[in-house]
Amino acid sequence: MSDQLRYKGLREKLVEDLRKKGITDERVLSAMGEVPRHLFMESGLIQFAYKDQAFPIAAGQTISQPYTVAFQSQLLEVQPRHRVLEIGTGSGYQAAVLVAMGASLFSVERQRVLFLKAKSILEKLNYHPGLFFGDGYAGLPTYAPFDRILVTCGAESVPEALLRQLKIGGRMVIPVGGPSEQKMTLYVKISENVIERSEHGAFIFVPMVEGKAKK
Ligand code: SAH
Repeated sequence: MSDQLRYKGLREKLVEDLRKKGITDERVLSAMGEVPRHLFMESGLIQFAYKDQAFPIAAGQTISQPYTVAFQSQLLEVQPRHRVLEIGTGSGYQAAVLVAMGASLFSVERQRVLFLKAKSILEKLNYHPGLFFGDGYAGLPTYAPFDRILVTCGAESVPEALLRQLKIGGRMVIPVGGPSEQKMTLYVKISENVIERSEHGAFIFVPMVEGKAKK
């Protein structure tokens, strides 16, 4: 699959833009300099792929803004070989970034059309996360526990199953709040009964919805 020099140049500019906006984790920046975001976009929007903006994808969902992807990935503190669970595969772009950072990734999506599209593009690009069509509220008990959990949709409340599936010492990043705005929330599991919680600014995500979509 072709990844022209032009796109590489645009990606470098995007990375510089992310640095200016305060992203400092070199491993995040390097992964985002590598993953061809334009191949995760709807065909009519490819020319905008390296703008720091969210765009519509199928099933009324969105591909997250690059700054948001970078911010969440940085807050997660992913190390190579970490077992990471992502809720909301969507376009597959964030998944590719986590795999490029060396994560052993598992990702769940409730919209079948997005699950299938993401599977196809990630395979073509040689990224190989475990992809699942299901309900992220339940997490993935058979593959738990995870070093890191990243939720990429806005949750009204924090799914208990996800906190249970986090290792001791593990980190979970989840946008929490109603439809108009969510607080980026970090949970650090200190011990089985002690979980530290901190907030890291306001963002807007599509909502986390319970259950698999019907069609
Ligand atoms: N990480 C994605 C962001 C996609 S938007 C990307 O990089 O493109 C968030 C996604 O979360 C949507 O595709 C939506 O369908 C999905 N989602 C919402 N509720 C969910 C749930 N309960 N389980 C799994 N996925 C969910």
